[in-house]
Amino acid sequence: MIVCKFGGSSVADDKQIRKVKAILDADKRRTIAVVSAPGRRSTGDDKITDLLYECNRLAQQNRSCRPVFEKISDRYLSIAKGLKLDEGRLIPALDEIRQGIDAGRGTDYAASRGEYLSGLIIAAYLGWEFVDPADYIVINSDGTVSPITYERLSVRFADGGRYVIPGFYGSTPEGVIKTFSRGGSDISGAIASRAAKAELYENWTDVSGIYAADPRIVKNARVISELTYKQVRELSDVGASVFHEEAIAPVIEAQIPINIRNTNEPDAPGTMIRAESSSRSLIGISGKGGFSRIKIRKLMMFRSPSEFFPFRH
Ligand code: ASP
Repeated sequence: MIVCKFGGSSVADDKQIRKVKAILDADKRRTIAVVSAPGRRSTGDDKITDLLYECNRLAQQNRSCRPVFEKISDRYLSIAKGLKLDEGRLIPALDEIRQGIDAGRGTDYAASRGEYLSGLIIAAYLGWEFVDPADYIVINSDGTVSPITYERLSVRFADGGRYVIPGFYGSTPEGVIKTFSRGGSDISGAIASRAAKAELYENWTDVSGIYAADPRIVKNARVISELTYKQVRELSDVGASVFHEEAIAPVIEAQIPINIRNTNEPDAPGTMIRAESSSRSLIGISGKGGFSRIKIRKLMMFRSPSEFFPFRH
C-alpha cells in the first residue's frame, strides 16, 4: 500500500481537493491520505494555520478571535459547499473550535484544528474513515515521537480500510493535543508510512520534485529523478528547501522510498528518494542566501604604534 501526504496547497480549496481524489482514485494501492490544513490559494492569500495562530494570540490578549475566525469558517464552508457536502454539518465543529480557542485551550490546540477540519472534510468527501491522530500519535515533550505510536497506528490500520488522517499533530503522553513544528505534516506522513509498513510514501506538493538548482534563479532547472536519503540531508544542510532529516527519519529507519509529486501535474514522475541510488554523478547545486562576511584588516594590529614610530616620544 501507499501513504499519500497532501500539503497545504494541495488542499487549499475544493478544486484542489478534487485533484486529490483523482490522484487517490488513480491507484488502488493509495489507501492512507495524510492531509495538511488549507494553504494559500494564490500569493497574498492566508494560510489557515497562520490564521489559527492569530486567533490564539488574540485570545491570549483577552480579545475575541471572532473576526479572524470568520475567515477560517468561510474558507471551510466554501470548500464543503464546493465539494457538494452538507456545510451545515461543519457548523458545530467550527463553533466548538472557536469557543475552545476563546476559552484558552492553547496554541497547539488552536493550530492543530486546521488539519483536523481538513481531515474531517476530506474523509467525508472521499467516503474514507477519519482517524484522529490525537488518539494515536504520541509526541513527547522534547518533540520526539513515542514508539507506542507505531503500535497503536498499525493496529488501527490493520483492517485494510481506507483512512484520512490529519497531519501536524498528535497528543502528549498525558493526552493533551500537541503539534510538531511548522511544516510538520511531513512527519505525520512519515509516521503513517512506517506504521502501515507502506511500500511507498508519496509526498504530494506543488512542485514536480527536487530541482537540481533553485528554479527561481536557474531557469529550466531540471528535476532530480533519484536521490538517496543521505543526499537529501546534504542538500538540506547546504540550504536547499527539501525535507529535514528528522521529518523523514521514520521512513529512513524503515527504508521506505519517498516520492515527491506534484498535485497539479500528477503525471510527472517527481523525485524518488531511497537508500541507494543508481546515479553517481553531481546531483544538484544549492546555496544559502543572506550571508554576510566581514573582513577586518588593520595595520599594526599586533604592535603598538610606539614600536613603529619611536621618534614620536
Ligand atoms: N499546517 C501546518 C503548517 O502550516 C503544518 C503543515 O502544513 O505541514 O505549518
